[in-house]
Amino acid sequence: MPEEGQDQLVVCVDCGAQFPFSAQEQSFYKERGYSPPKRCKACRAKRKAQGAAPAGGAGDGAAAPAQFYKIVCAGCGQESTVPFKPDPTRPAYCRACYSTRRKAGPNAAGPGPAGTP
Ligand SMILES: [Zn+2]
Ligand SMILES: [Zn+2]
Repeated sequence: MPEEGQDQLVVCVDCGAQFPFSAQEQSFYKERGYSPPKRCKACRAKRKAQGAAPAGGAGDGAAAPAQFYKIVCAGCGQESTVPFKPDPTRPAYCRACYSTRRKAGPNAAGPGPAGTP
């Protein structure tokens, strides 16, 4: 019958340092079905940090510059930029004209064909 309730000294496979594997930890590991640790706390933390962090990445978010395309507004004739590739088959509008057109609706684009006297 293996004796329990004894602290063990485990040699870290990474740095070779001895670290205590306490009886408490042993039972904790046993309960969860974990295999006993092979690395000291420092090396475990190191490996965890390496595994968790994606190697080298500028994850600042929203830092990437959006690509803007130069357009000449079909509404006011002014140069503007749009955050999407303008469709050459369609008139491009600046932000102001675009929003006014949207608000006004498709039927309110200027004088229009005056067919009704
Ligand atoms: Zn170590
Ligand atoms: Zn415009």
